[in-house]
Amino acid sequence: MSKFLSKSHLSLKAYVPGEQPTDKRYIKLNTNESPFPPSKKAIAAVKREATSLNLYSDPSAKSLKRAIAKYYGVQEKEVTVTNGSDEALAFCFMAFCDSTTPMAFFDVTYGFYKVYAELFGIPSEIVKLKDDFTADFDGLKKTKGNVIIANPNAQTGIFESLEAVEDLIKSKKDKVVIIDEAYCDFGGESAANLVKKYENAIVVSTFSKSRNLAGGRIGFVIANENLILDLEKMKYSFNPYSLGRIPLVAAKAAIEDVGYFKECVGEIKKAREYTVAALKELGFEVLPSLANFVLCKTDKMDGKSLYLALKEKGILCRYLGEERIKDYVRITIGTKKQMRTLIEVLGEIL
Ligand code: PMP
Repeated sequence: MSKFLSKSHLSLKAYVPGEQPTDKRYIKLNTNESPFPPSKKAIAAVKREATSLNLYSDPSAKSLKRAIAKYYGVQEKEVTVTNGSDEALAFCFMAFCDSTTPMAFFDVTYGFYKVYAELFGIPSEIVKLKDDFTADFDGLKKTKGNVIIANPNAQTGIFESLEAVEDLIKSKKDKVVIIDEAYCDFGGESAANLVKKYENAIVVSTFSKSRNLAGGRIGFVIANENLILDLEKMKYSFNPYSLGRIPLVAAKAAIEDVGYFKECVGEIKKAREYTVAALKELGFEVLPSLANFVLCKTDKMDGKSLYLALKEKGILCRYLGEERIKDYVRITIGTKKQMRTLIEVLGEIL
């Protein structure tokens, strides 16, 4: 740290992303990426676009917005796109919270919510998940501020019903309710339709997981057009060209390639089913996940030792180390073949 860092950032604890190692080839089950390559149509679009990189991208991202709107059955003005959904989340914190308008979220969830709150000087209202890691919506409803949930929840993979989400949105009508659907395509149900009914509902999603484009950094938001205008005010005050030409065309081709998307998601769901059953057979406790990862623990080994033993054998999973889940590891669902290797190696380790 230099002596120049602003006092307001002295105690800021930055987000620590999962490892992206370059030392050797691992079976990479640590950052919830897709194990499958991007759609061939996305790759072709990227190659075509490369010759235009001397020119700025379209800051209004019109053609990508149109493609997303068509897929979700909403209007173009109800969509905005961002550099990864992390940027969309940051814009939500910037636009709707301040030092007197907190953001409420669960104790076990996506770690970036807390980081953004600290970065922007926003108080957090932290509500505990229930003992079985399901959502305490009554607890959230009692908070004062805006609310953000991940559905399925990050780290646990647990999906909460759309009825419960709608109920939360209704009970918070003077505040925004942000639903982070990064993992929704793997078995959850999107709240995108609710944005027509509720002026305070915001759905945030990403091309990083179910659309195989984590390295492209493309996120998007679906919400009432006034909320979208507010978010775009943040974007145009921060970085109007936040999405480059390459991600814009890759994402458009990917969302239009519905066949390949369904094929990949279908494979992940099958591999998840196999993995959960095999882990349970090995004596693991596995939380019920509708995401492309599972959170699990064994009483034969603590979470950190298991993570290290797997790494030693060339398999990367994620050890989060947070108090309530310190016994658990989070394992991304890869291909069936990768998951078979994981199970074999776990058998050896245990
Ligand atoms: N939300 C959740 C719940 C996540 O787990 C992640 C991925 N780490 C993100 C948002 C951000 O994803 P991206 O910026 O790649 O769109």
